[in-house]
Amino acid sequence: MLLTPGPTPVPEFVRKAMSDVTLHHRTPEFEAIFAKTRSLLLEILGTPECVMIASSGTGAMEACITNLCHSKALTVNAGKFGERFGKICQAFDIENTELKYDWNTPASVDDVLSAIKSDDKIDAIYIQICESAGGLRHPVEAIAKAVKEINKDIMIIADGITAIGVEKIDVSNIDAVITGSQKALMLPPGLSMIGFSDAAVVKINTKPAGYYLNLASEIKKQKQNTTAYTAATTLIIGLGSILEKIKEDGFENLYEATAKRALATREALEAIGLEVFPTSPANAMTTIYTEQSNEIRKVLKEQFNVNIAGGQDHLKGKIFRVNHMGLVEDFEAAWAVNAIEKALDVIGTRTFDGTANKVFMEINCD
Ligand SMILES: *Cc1c(COP(=O)(O)O)cnc(C)c1O
Repeated sequence: MLLTPGPTPVPEFVRKAMSDVTLHHRTPEFEAIFAKTRSLLLEILGTPECVMIASSGTGAMEACITNLCHSKALTVNAGKFGERFGKICQAFDIENTELKYDWNTPASVDDVLSAIKSDDKIDAIYIQICESAGGLRHPVEAIAKAVKEINKDIMIIADGITAIGVEKIDVSNIDAVITGSQKALMLPPGLSMIGFSDAAVVKINTKPAGYYLNLASEIKKQKQNTTAYTAATTLIIGLGSILEKIKEDGFENLYEATAKRALATREALEAIGLEVFPTSPANAMTTIYTEQSNEIRKVLKEQFNVNIAGGQDHLKGKIFRVNHMGLVEDFEAAWAVNAIEKALDVIGTRTFDGTANKVFMEINCD
């Protein structure tokens, strides 16, 4: 059972939709699929414009650095992915200031405001909605609103790779929202997507940048339901199929089920003495801080067929992360919680008594 916060399992109906004969990308047949997928994507993103790019999520992060920062970037680093925005700036010799936090601590509105007030070169801010390294939720909407009240020309770029499809994001003050195929959207890796505000499109077109990741040429093409280079046809077909299903079931219902599962998991694991790591947990995953992370994960995998993720860098062996993204069944989430309690028994930390399951069921299935 794969319960890592990306990649997530690809549902059977999506695998089937993607297994049809190869379509040429410059045909009316594919353009119709592209148009349908594009309109569903605009709907889930909540933005007036968007692109789909054949790259992993990092490609979209890079495109947003090279196309939306014309002067200096402010990057928020509370984990691996926030750090990556800074590294991309360095790779392109783009000046950046970094706001650094512990991996369990969200950025504060005040820190961002003082950073932009003390440096008027900053014209773009890069932040994760959910920083997947520690599973924390940054207050992106509040930051975006406060920044726009001071200077509406500063671009707000939100990495929503583990947020789009997890919860409804208020994008009214966000200029670019990034997502990728292999997390909450339950597709194989290889497709990234970016939603843009009208202001972002204007800025991109004032100074087109790059070649493959040139957003000006990509937006121009995708408005006509085609792509600048060969489209990732299979993944776009899969995206259309998953978005259609999510919409049919109701976007709100997915967000609600995910939030409930996340809350039930956190409460269940706390009830058996485990410590939730981030001070502001995101609903995409539950991150637990424990020195026994490696032993627990080993037992989960070998005895209970549950695959969860560990930590990276200084949190290697100190955290574990359980995924909530996608169409996770109640019985899968409940099994994970039970298996974690059992694992604590196996390694001799706590005697099993079914507490985690009880708490989980009470909250998730009320
Ligand atoms: C997974 C992830 C990425 C990186 O995506 P890749 O597809 O691995 O390039 C970026 N940001 C966040 C928050 C992620 O979770």
